[in-house]
Amino acid sequence: MHVLFVTSEVAGLFKIGGLADVSDALPKALSELGVTVTVALPFYASIDIKGCTGVGELSVDYAGDRETVELFTYPIADRASVLLFRHHRLLDYHKAPIEETFAFFSKAVATFFMENAVAGNNPIDIVHCNDWHTAVVPTLIGESNKTLHGSGTVQSGGVKTVITIHNLMYQGVVDVCVIDHLGAPRGIFHIVKKGTKERVSLLRSGLECADVITTVSPAYAKEITLQKHRDSLGDVFARRKDKVVGILNGIDTRSWDPSRDASLAQTYNASAVFEGKTMMKRVLRQATGLPGGPVPVFGFVGRIEPRQKGIDLVMKAIGQFHPDGKYQIVILGTGEKHTETELANMVKQFPLSVAFVNGFNETLARKIYAGSDMFLVPSKFEPCGLTQMIAMRYGTVPVVRKTGGLADTVDDDKTGFVFTSYSPRSLVDAMKRAIHAWETPNVWKVIVHRGMEADFSWKRSAGLYVDLYKSLLG
Ligand code: ADP
Repeated sequence: MHVLFVTSEVAGLFKIGGLADVSDALPKALSELGVTVTVALPFYASIDIKGCTGVGELSVDYAGDRETVELFTYPIADRASVLLFRHHRLLDYHKAPIEETFAFFSKAVATFFMENAVAGNNPIDIVHCNDWHTAVVPTLIGESNKTLHGSGTVQSGGVKTVITIHNLMYQGVVDVCVIDHLGAPRGIFHIVKKGTKERVSLLRSGLECADVITTVSPAYAKEITLQKHRDSLGDVFARRKDKVVGILNGIDTRSWDPSRDASLAQTYNASAVFEGKTMMKRVLRQATGLPGGPVPVFGFVGRIEPRQKGIDLVMKAIGQFHPDGKYQIVILGTGEKHTETELANMVKQFPLSVAFVNGFNETLARKIYAGSDMFLVPSKFEPCGLTQMIAMRYGTVPVVRKTGGLADTVDDDKTGFVFTSYSPRSLVDAMKRAIHAWETPNVWKVIVHRGMEADFSWKRSAGLYVDLYKSLLG
């Protein structure tokens, strides 16, 4: 079986968040199960790799021009390789408008797929797209297939398509002219008129056309098909709810391993977890300017995105439950500017207890996972969330809100502390319960070990993807 896995980020090459971890680890896990995976990724200018090989060129029709895209391949596992698409439109992920960048990338991927199909070598059985960035690929393939095969069905030509939702908040809403740039007929898109403007959601197009819609935890699959996140996509989910499948993400247990993490001054395994973490707590405090003392440290690593990640709750919780003498908190993240400023002010108010590092820093993130006692993930919604699983693997006890993948991965009082209501009071209560447990070493030991022993490897979930692919192919 050959899967074309289409993504905007791959850990080790280019990372914004959890999608990068998934796009690296899942193809490797699939490869171990005997599946051949080609991971399609833009060749951003910041990608610095040696050992990639040029494998040809593509002619891509976009916005009335015929553009040449160069292709390079880079192996990541026995049966998995990254296929990099080099073109001046694809050099910078952040370049505005980002939607045009990924519309072009999607067209390039669809073109690659069709040329590959025509050439007949190493045929692709499944096209697996991720989030709005690449969601229009199934529609484009369906259209090209119609032309090739003269059939009226969108999914003619044998290939099956999968769209995975990693985050429904971002939908890739574009001006209708982008459809013209793609060379697709406007009639197959859901066009929304607002005043004189006509807009289209690239994600919606994928949700309508893909053979199956997956999302990254069973709980989030339920949430999006029941009442939550319905908004402008509500009718699609209502119509296609039997096509929505939740498969929990895993983590790459080789990369996230406290016993051989090169970023840690002191590595440790479960049998030496408290010695290792004591040392790493000291290192973390030194790195973030916090003083020592007999109080627990809470960590937070994530996008500073108050609409999702609950960072507003964290600040309100600190305001209600002052940390001095009770606990410390280290926050690493980047994102919404106003919230970043508020966090910086909070540090001025509690300089001995609160540290905020504004940026994306993988090494520091690893020190936080290792050096904290507890880890906060108080998200408003969380499709899966990887940080709570990574934290548990590092012996750090998560305090999470009961939503999406957080609800699926953390057991209250057993592997972490779970609260329900999205309110500072509920978060404070959970933090106090965690602190109380931390002060009771026998209780704490059991919680830490249970978390470290939990199996969050990709093996099981990759097997579920293989089953899904097989069921699609009949
Ligand atoms: P997201 O919604 O951002 O995808 P996830 O929990 O699924 O959230 O994944 C986040 C991933 O990104 C984790 O690997 C986490 O360690 C990493 N990460 C997030 N923010 C930062 C940061 N500021 N510095 C380093 N790593 C980060």
